[in-house]
Amino acid sequence: MGRAFVYVILGGGVAAGYAALEFVKKGVSHGELCIISDEPVAPYERPALSKGFLLPEAAARLPSFHTCVGANEERLTPKWYKENGIEVVLGTGVKSADVKRKTLLTTTGETISYKFLIVATGARALKLEEFGVSGSDAENVCYLRDIADANRLVNVIQSCPEGNAVVIGGGYIGMECAASLVINKINVTMVFPEEHCMARLFTTKIANYYEEYYKSRGVNFVKGTVLSSFDFDSNGKVTAVNLRDGSTLSVDMVVVGIGIRPNTGLFEGQLTLEKGGIKVNGMLQSSNSSVYAIGDVAAFPVKAFGETRRLEHVDSARKSAKHVVAAIMEPDKTGEFDYIPFFYSRIFTLSWQFYGDNVGEVIYFGDMSGSAFGAYWVSKGHLVGAFLEGGNKEEYEAIAKVTRLRPAIEDLTELERQGLGYAVTVSQKPAVSPPVEVRASDLLLEKPLYAWHATAGVIIAASIAAFAYFYGKKRRRW
Ligand SMILES: Cc1cc2nc3c(=O)[nH]c(=O)nc-3n(C[C@H](O)[C@H](O)[C@H](O)COP(=O)(O)OP(=O)(O)OC[C@H]3O[C@@H](n4cnc5c(N)ncnc54)[C@H](O)[C@@H]3O)c2cc1C
Repeated sequence: MGRAFVYVILGGGVAAGYAALEFVKKGVSHGELCIISDEPVAPYERPALSKGFLLPEAAARLPSFHTCVGANEERLTPKWYKENGIEVVLGTGVKSADVKRKTLLTTTGETISYKFLIVATGARALKLEEFGVSGSDAENVCYLRDIADANRLVNVIQSCPEGNAVVIGGGYIGMECAASLVINKINVTMVFPEEHCMARLFTTKIANYYEEYYKSRGVNFVKGTVLSSFDFDSNGKVTAVNLRDGSTLSVDMVVVGIGIRPNTGLFEGQLTLEKGGIKVNGMLQSSNSSVYAIGDVAAFPVKAFGETRRLEHVDSARKSAKHVVAAIMEPDKTGEFDYIPFFYSRIFTLSWQFYGDNVGEVIYFGDMSGSAFGAYWVSKGHLVGAFLEGGNKEEYEAIAKVTRLRPAIEDLTELERQGLGYAVTVSQKPAVSPPVEVRASDLLLEKPLYAWHATAGVIIAASIAAFAYFYGKKRRRW
């Protein structure tokens, strides 16, 4: 049994949904595109699972968060795929791939052939067993990667009102789940081996802000140690968490968020892998010219950093999906993927965004004892990253733009003094001319902006005082 399609998307997550929308926008014909997913539902906005989905009241449920509502685009319901002639094969895994023959073999025994394959298999949650601890299948131990996990987590939360939870891991999933558990009136202890939460992204100072806020909401932190084992009752339910530091925590439920592993298994030995993902070029094309990769599974060149990165964030999944369709359908009109990493999170009433890279010196601004603050990262004389908590739309757009521009920073003290005002001012200046690439070591310099800084620096310095005065008056919190 077999079917053939021009385009096949393997995986039915965020990237698949955004790619489907782009295919339709670019005029894919009925019957040309197929999506194969082992999930039972059409592509949805995965970030909703740790946020709206876990709310005790008015919780988000499908079909409300099918892609592409997260980017304020059309909501692609199963009906939409049907109307647009897209074959969506749900609840069906692909168990092997043959990139030479251009075929996929599904768990139902069907062979699906393609002319172009887009691998969008995302990643899976790492299991405790991979770290030598058993108990993942206990009924009150939860992971969170897909809708089945989320449904299970909701059931476990509801089974222990006002109970005690231990959240293992201080990254994205741990932080967002801890917040949701508190909102559900569960007592939470977070356990992680690092010195502070969100260790891959946050500085100690930034992490401290969030940890203090979490503590004010009743969350207890146990840092610098890891889980060593569980105690179980006679029904196999976990009753206590034993930590390597010798302490024990009584629990009614456990949430595990200890990282993810990209789903590359089908292509090992067939495609070049890097950074744990499928290595692709600027057109998102793998070492086999008919196979492309997008989203969490793709390791792609980040032009601004001059190196290959694999990102685990929804914005990169959405944008790489859009780009790959252009690269395949309009190769002559499409340049290389030029992406500045963007991460965000919303927890309790807090909301932060980060753009670029967190390397180099950190310059803080704003009021870290208040509700809004931020930081810039300056490396090799350029602003390469920016973080903002509690900003408004214009301010987030400003830090996004300033990070993309990578302006030269000569005076860190002056940058600190100007704070967010620096990003706002730079982002409001019209581009003098299209950016010109000037290679200097591994940096991509924006020549016109550089020139503009040199000539207009004095004017800005003078006008910034007036601006800062106005801005400070308008927004007291800075
Ligand atoms: C709970 C949660 C909250 C998140 N919150 C945020 C956030 O706030 N901000 C942020 O930037 N990012 C967040 N993320 C990360 C973001 O969701 C991912 O970066 C994004 O989903 C990646 O999209 P993707 O399409 O590459 O992978 P996925 O969305 O994971 O989709 C992969 C799909 O492929 C399917 N698949 C895999 N292997 C096979 C196979 N062999 N056969 C068939 N199907 C297969 C999977 O079942 C899945 O449907 C969150 C992730 C989770 C889990």
